[in-house]
Amino acid sequence: MAEQERPLVESFELDHTKVKAPYVRLIDEEQGPNGDVISNYDLRLVQPNENAIPTAGLHTIEHTIAVLLRERIPGYIDCSPFGCRTGFHLLTWGRHSTEEVAKALKESLEFIADKASWDDVPGTEITSCGNYRDHSLFSAKQWCRDIVDAGISSDPWERKVV
Ligand SMILES: [Zn+2]
Repeated sequence: MAEQERPLVESFELDHTKVKAPYVRLIDEEQGPNGDVISNYDLRLVQPNENAIPTAGLHTIEHTIAVLLRERIPGYIDCSPFGCRTGFHLLTWGRHSTEEVAKALKESLEFIADKASWDDVPGTEITSCGNYRDHSLFSAKQWCRDIVDAGISSDPWERKVV
């Protein structure tokens, strides 16, 4: 396939040195043939190329926010970690402001930092997870505390902390 025909991936066009994490950014909205809208968000928890959440903590955050964000965001579809371990993609049906998403994320990370016990982390058995040995609630709590204390912005370039 010729270079100019390769699909453009928006996330790889973003200048990762210009953003100010933690933030929520709308990546794009896609409309299906029946008019349904799916929104894709960049939930950036730590500063790219300066920090990365270790896999065990990130994995535990992933399992726990799958429930917490689903409870708080109507039309929640999925939330999956970036391979660079600096945050997550969030997919939802319909449109939500980045303020709404940032508030739901803040509440969820606050819950993990302050209240979550092992019982709040779903899917940690050999039958329900692909790498059940690689979890750390201790790490998840520490990272969530630091992220909440840094403040989650509804804008990636200008600090608009919710
Ligand atoms: Zn898992």
